[in-house]
Amino acid sequence: MDKKPSSLFESAQAQLDEVARMLNLEPSIHAILREPMREVQVSIPVKMDDGQTKVFKGFRVQYNNARGPFKGGIRFHPDETIDTIRALAAWMTWKCAVVNAPFGGGKGGVICNPKEMSRGELEGLSRGYIDAIWEFIGPDKDIPAPDVYTNPQIMGWMMDEYSKLKGYYSPQVITGKPLAIGGSLGRVDATARGAVFTIIEAAKHLNIDLSTATAAIQGYGNVGSNASLLIHDMLGSKIIAVSDSKGGIYNKHGLEPRNVLQHKEKTGSVINFPEAENISNDQLLELGVTILCPAALENVITEENAPRIKAKMVAALANGPITPEADEVLNHSGVFVIPDFLCNAGGVTVSYFEWVQSLDKYYWDEEEIHRQLNKSMTKAFRDVLTESLKRKVSMRIAAYIVAVARVAEAVRLRGWV
Ligand code: NAD
Repeated sequence: MDKKPSSLFESAQAQLDEVARMLNLEPSIHAILREPMREVQVSIPVKMDDGQTKVFKGFRVQYNNARGPFKGGIRFHPDETIDTIRALAAWMTWKCAVVNAPFGGGKGGVICNPKEMSRGELEGLSRGYIDAIWEFIGPDKDIPAPDVYTNPQIMGWMMDEYSKLKGYYSPQVITGKPLAIGGSLGRVDATARGAVFTIIEAAKHLNIDLSTATAAIQGYGNVGSNASLLIHDMLGSKIIAVSDSKGGIYNKHGLEPRNVLQHKEKTGSVINFPEAENISNDQLLELGVTILCPAALENVITEENAPRIKAKMVAALANGPITPEADEVLNHSGVFVIPDFLCNAGGVTVSYFEWVQSLDKYYWDEEEIHRQLNKSMTKAFRDVLTESLKRKVSMRIAAYIVAVARVAEAVRLRGWV
């Protein structure tokens, strides 16, 4: 039996190893895909508000660029580690490949606590990070984006710093920018909207009438609240439960997502919503709904609770909400899973559209963004479903097979082996 992975990156490698065996991948290509191509580690001095200079540690991992420039977010987090960034950079490689965006994968991060930093300190850190890595990134090299605790304003400062160093306005270097400086329409709800397009396809495959379906959504942040609105408005399904870090709410007759959002804005949480009863996050996961959307944290569906999941389909909007062991259990009990790096790829897809628009200096209207997003997500879903049916494997394994085969083909055709 293989050694149990002890780190996140080791589990990313173990997942690749499994798929490499199924694909009969040449050992030389497998070896290339197991390791990041480049890792940059930098020290970033920032003049803090008290006059002292503090030195922060930053990373950029460039995992693989066989299919195009590296692409992936930048995280500002106190517990950031190079191991996590490595794993996330690998997963970005597969995510871009599964939606056929012409990118490789990368990820960056800085060890810091943005919640304890002033706006000026955050700007200094954002600019300092770019000063340290700017020679390694670029519109045709590596295109960062926001991730945990980074946002459009931070992308704006980073783009400005890069433009100053180059000597000209360079919005193509980064995505997730504010609209006024080269951002794209449709980015805010892109992840949730992309997921809805995959839910529509899954429902066709499973013969489910979404207009009479019910949904439960864990997490009411950007992804979860937008998913609630879109599932309600676009699909006509009933949202019977939602939750956040403080707990969940349930109403079998359906919740009105806009009223829940107003309540959360007023009180800081979805709990104690007048037209619903409070439930726990664990209860939410085990409701007998048509669609379950984990849209908060990783590892919420595990080997332990997977046998109690009664949903017909699980749309994995968060990153890593289902452990590989739980995925096996769900697959065997007939719960249809839309795996995370397919289900939540709408964000990177609209990032791709933002890059294209910035390069073209021609901006699309929102309708065009939605149309193109629908086309990409639907095609990606169908590619994965076809592979899953052909090989009789779960959608998660099928998504890996599609993605890894595409990256491997690029490595082969470029003559790297
Ligand atoms: P967010 O910070 O806006 O929202 C997170 C939500 O999860 C909040 O409502 C929070 O209260 C809730 N939450 C936290 N702990 C919880 C707990 N223990 N139980 C239940 N709910 C809890 O984050 P987001 O941008 O909506 O991202 C959510 C997930 O989607 C993450 O896994 C993220 O990596 C993934 N994702 C986001 C995007 C994007 O475009 N924002 C793209 C791809 C993947």
